[in-house]
Amino acid sequence: MKILVLNAGSSSLKYQLIDMNTEQPIAKGACERIGIPGSKLTQKVNGQELVIEKSMPNHTVAFNLVLEALMDKEKGAITSVDEIGAVGHRVLHSGEDFKGTVLIDDEVIAICEKNAVLGPLHMPANIACIKSCREILPGVPMAAVFDTAFHSTMQPKAYMYGVKYEDYEQFKVRKYGFHGTSHKFVSGEAIKYLGREDLKIITCHLGNGSSISAVKNGKCVDTSMGFTPLEGLTMGTRSGDIDPAVLEFLMDKKGMDIHQMLNYLNKECGVMGVSGVSSDFRDLTAATKAGNERAKLALEMFAYRVKKYIGSYAAAMNGVDCIVFTGGIGENDQDMRAAIMQDMDYLGVNFDFDKNSNFKRGCIQELDNGGKVKVLIIPTNEELVIARETLELL
Ligand code: AMP
Repeated sequence: MKILVLNAGSSSLKYQLIDMNTEQPIAKGACERIGIPGSKLTQKVNGQELVIEKSMPNHTVAFNLVLEALMDKEKGAITSVDEIGAVGHRVLHSGEDFKGTVLIDDEVIAICEKNAVLGPLHMPANIACIKSCREILPGVPMAAVFDTAFHSTMQPKAYMYGVKYEDYEQFKVRKYGFHGTSHKFVSGEAIKYLGREDLKIITCHLGNGSSISAVKNGKCVDTSMGFTPLEGLTMGTRSGDIDPAVLEFLMDKKGMDIHQMLNYLNKECGVMGVSGVSSDFRDLTAATKAGNERAKLALEMFAYRVKKYIGSYAAAMNGVDCIVFTGGIGENDQDMRAAIMQDMDYLGVNFDFDKNSNFKRGCIQELDNGGKVKVLIIPTNEELVIARETLELL
């Protein structure tokens, strides 16, 4: 069966068509600038690139173009939409309503609409994409795979904030966590690789957005992102954990309202804000090597906070058997991995700095030299999780 995986952002629509016999993508593509002048679709099938530049005022038009591209006579991957056996939608937020992947029906859409307030940037796009897809492909089964669902196994002591309980009850203010499909995939791969499930695993998804999860016996017990993806690690442009009193202080000093403040914390802070150079770790490493002190500081702050989260999750689980690195930085940035793993012998980690610098990209790699804790690079594959979960439901 071929499964189409859709990941809708507010102005984008990424897609992959995956052949579930081989679990390999047969087409990958993205529509950019939906609803903005200059919309463009790019697709790759067998190394052949197709580009369509056409106005895409909304997700329905974009999805129609995706089907057109997939069925393109020269550069497409299928000859008829009948070849699409199912669609898996990445949906940002499950609220407290879904603990796993569900088949989409009217009731599921209504619950997603109720939960849209929890993800005001992404949820409307996710819902619009689901609706247009149902209209254009009636009869094709569709699943919603939630970015938060893997974290639904957290206990109240981990997900509650120290705010008034009534505000949790009435407004559902609590930690939800994100990047769930990635944490689920890499912890699952670690379990398969090590051949047992009774493991304490810390998964570090380090990319432009970064989060860390503590996974015990295959279930998430804690995660660093919170009510929104703003909490936790210092990220590309997000501040991560911060004393909330800073908000009022800076709003007063800089004359910002709360929306400007949140935009600032999401888009202008993190390693970008500290360094003043870039949110991309390759640029920061190059700048550090050229003597830029602020770029160096941004990288040090990033590594320090990852290290603190690893320590706190080892404490929460009474130890750690395996640390997993994934995401653009986790999979590729050997300098950052080395900085994080310096002085971890207190945990029983015997990190092999040579293996770390001579790693192979795109496959599971061991970075330890024996010791109590396995350290692995595991390339993430969120689209494959979405396709697998969709197939499982069918
Ligand atoms: P992601 O959001 O998972 O795609 O990760 C994106 C980030 O990964 C980029 O902003 C870079 O900072 C980082 N990255 C990707 N490739 C490399 C690399 N070869 N070396 C260092 N950092 C990398």
